[in-house]
Amino acid sequence: MIQQLPTSGLTSTDRPSTAQARIEAETRQLLDQVRAGGDAAVRDLTLRFDGVEVQKSQVEPAEIDEALRIADPTLVEALQQAAANIRRVGSAQLFSEEEVLVRPGVRVWRVSRPLRRVGVYVPGGRAPYPSSVLMLCVPATLAGCSEVVLCSPPGQDGHVDRNILAAAAIAGATEVHAIGGVQAIGAMAYGTETLARVDKVFGPGNSHVTAAKRLVFGEVAVDMPAGPSEVVVISDGSVAAAWLAADLEAQAEHAPDAVGILISTDREHAEQVASLVTQRMAPQLRFYIATTLEEALAAANQFGPEHLILACRDAEAHLGAVTNAGSVFLGPFSPAAAGDYATGANHVIPTGGAVRSFSPLGLDAFGRTLQVQSLSAGGLSELSSLVEPMARAEGFHHHLRSVRIRLSEKVDASASCPRPRAGVAQMHPYLWEASSAEVAARAGIPEGDVVRFDTNTCPWTVAEADCLTLQGVNEYPDSNYPALVSALANYLDQPSAAITLGAGADELLSLISMAFVGPNDPVVIPVPTYSMFSALTEAAGGHQISVAGGDEEKLLQVASRARLIWLCNPNNPTGELLREGLVQRLATSSPGIVVVDEAYFEFSGRSSVRLIDELPNLVVVRTLSKAFGLAGARVGYAVSGPAIAQILALVRPPASISGQSAALAVSALEHTQDMKARVAGLLRERELLADEITKRGFDSRSSSTNFLLVSCPNGLAEQLAARGLVVRSFPVDSSLHGWMRVTVRSKEENGRLLEGLSDFGGRGGN
Ligand code: PMP
Repeated sequence: MIQQLPTSGLTSTDRPSTAQARIEAETRQLLDQVRAGGDAAVRDLTLRFDGVEVQKSQVEPAEIDEALRIADPTLVEALQQAAANIRRVGSAQLFSEEEVLVRPGVRVWRVSRPLRRVGVYVPGGRAPYPSSVLMLCVPATLAGCSEVVLCSPPGQDGHVDRNILAAAAIAGATEVHAIGGVQAIGAMAYGTETLARVDKVFGPGNSHVTAAKRLVFGEVAVDMPAGPSEVVVISDGSVAAAWLAADLEAQAEHAPDAVGILISTDREHAEQVASLVTQRMAPQLRFYIATTLEEALAAANQFGPEHLILACRDAEAHLGAVTNAGSVFLGPFSPAAAGDYATGANHVIPTGGAVRSFSPLGLDAFGRTLQVQSLSAGGLSELSSLVEPMARAEGFHHHLRSVRIRLSEKVDASASCPRPRAGVAQMHPYLWEASSAEVAARAGIPEGDVVRFDTNTCPWTVAEADCLTLQGVNEYPDSNYPALVSALANYLDQPSAAITLGAGADELLSLISMAFVGPNDPVVIPVPTYSMFSALTEAAGGHQISVAGGDEEKLLQVASRARLIWLCNPNNPTGELLREGLVQRLATSSPGIVVVDEAYFEFSGRSSVRLIDELPNLVVVRTLSKAFGLAGARVGYAVSGPAIAQILALVRPPASISGQSAALAVSALEHTQDMKARVAGLLRERELLADEITKRGFDSRSSSTNFLLVSCPNGLAEQLAARGLVVRSFPVDSSLHGWMRVTVRSKEENGRLLEGLSDFGGRGGN
């Protein structure tokens, strides 16, 4: 009877085998019957399995009250106290979780919501279990479930056991039905005419009930597989043999298929335990000898018992070694029976080894959590650098847009300062790609290895460093910048009066907008184009009229009522030149001002400057940021007739170009021949690059600038960034989805880009 614990541990024969396939087939048939036949099918099955005819399954409230009234007062008292203990233990399981401040302005937390309507099954079978009523219904009501349906089979008299009804009254069940077995599970899962379906089915039962719960899973939630009960007792011989024999017998008493296993490190003591158990129960019990407690615990873990009694010295010290068990009982005075009824711990526990994947019934089983997240404008902007590469990699441009659109309209309603003007609050500001430092950190490369293919700058400067001095840096520069104006007049072959200086072309665009655009003024923008045009228009409160760049007829039509027309020639980001004569036609047909942004003039050689004499409403804006290689110095200028120049002078801030920058600009303008030679080299490089890009299967639009618009399949920009190569993408402008803008750079840098394209898994075509 007593065996040495096999080296392989407990075996599957230590658990009763159930004829799964047969049981499942029978159960499925019964469930189908309930689903199709509703109340009538339930009545038929009750007659078939319980041998009674029950016309109306729902128990009247009066019958429940009566059951409580006539119940044995000592039982009622015990049930009430046990319920209080379950409540006390359950209260510690009430959902409580801290809100997490993931980053400043990003809060994430979870809240719990109870299931609305739950169904619990309490077997009648061999004996009615009012204790199970408490274990199932008390946590349900404590969790806040508003409807708690209890099903239990009718006895021979056609009624639910009175003690079950009394317990149901104590535990707060809201609806009781005299339905047992598979039909109860089916009725609760599918609903019948008189029993509305529930959201989750709970409760132990025989193998058919367990199979039924498995089969309805998905239609409803179910708690866990809880079949034949089982206990493993681990003994070192220190707890009285008679006590352990009683524990094993108590287990066997549950049902003929209940199992009790003793694993002892003390052979003599184990023999004593075995000799004390009732012979009738012996077939349900096993006795094993282990060499050490560790070995015994390992076998128990492998078996994963519903109940585990650690009947050994210093039991709690061994708890750390228990990994697989449902309910653990520590020390000589902790019999499983105490947990079955009274400790307040739950006795609905996974069996059959299911503790590997399930927990004993707890309050959480009667609710679900909702997760909540709240982001401020700052919080969203903190996270945008995470969202953007992931959304791009997954090809979800609308995801990206939903973040960017908010950041570009990012006036936090909860901001602590007064709101800005409406136009500013709504505007879409200029957005840069990630900084070199960020790209380097993400790619895990030195910042110096990052190449900016997104800024349309040049890999050189033609200004000479020896023009720089600290002398005079304590004073403001001369706001008229005579040397710079004269160098520009010379470069442009224009009078000095035609020139307005600014800190980069951007400052001039901004001055023009400030001087000419008021709220609701019609402003025409051929799109796609440089995004600052629209940002400035929005900031000024102008009424933006976007027209597809190629639609000249429409352009001319809206020009006739425009207050301002923004043109970019050659255009950023398409690289194209405007059709010959268009500037002139627009300027003559418009009452407003026509701005031609020629930031990339030196790469195309085409300019509207020669038109300013005949067109008093024309202003050309240029920069030294691109071909002269002075983006960091921030020097730009506008060329216009004197009238516009005088208006711009009104709004121009004093001394916005530093003396150093002005000196660099003068130096650069002294080297225009160098600039032209370099530009010519770059244009040759551009054609080579475009050819190589096309050879790699990507589309490249022809360009009159120092950049190319290239097809960009999903994930490419991120793969390039992972190599430190930053290209310009256009997540907000849907007309440019699938395209990227790449600056033509040095041969070596372009080579790195080409390598990146070659290594890209997908092909390039749009
Ligand atoms: N206009 C266009 C079309 C541009 O592409 C740029 C630079 N991105 C600018 C103006 C701004 O140039 P700056 O550096 O002179 O402010």
